[in-house]
Amino acid sequence: MSSNMNILKNCAYCRIEFFAKKTTTKTCSDNCAKRLYKQNQRNQKIQHTETIAEIQRNNSTLITEADIKVIQCKEHLTLKEAAILINISALTLRRWVLAGKLNSVKVGKKHMFNRSILSAFIDSQI
Ligand SMILES: [Zn+2]
Repeated sequence: MSSNMNILKNCAYCRIEFFAKKTTTKTCSDNCAKRLYKQNQRNQKIQHTETIAEIQRNNSTLITEADIKVIQCKEHLTLKEAAILINISALTLRRWVLAGKLNSVKVGKKHMFNRSILSAFIDSQI
């Protein structure tokens, strides 16, 4: 609804003072409204990406002391567990396996590592 009201406001995009016809008006012009919308969309997208990145970062570093104790007791380790045990990334370990540096047993789609073979490999590298 338009009215004869003239409310002095600051444009939410360009910060210039203008007279608004409605109390809900936020921007001085249609162009500013479009640019503000685009800016908000962009900021939301950035925020969303940063949130996902942070969740992934937290998940990858969430190794508790209890997890390590369980891994240390196991005889057969998955690729992830073996990587945690020898303190390298899972990607590095996968690369070593594919390059033939380290032998693994494939159980289905998973690479399994025998603890003794893993320690023998580490000893041979030192
Ligand atoms: Zn404006």
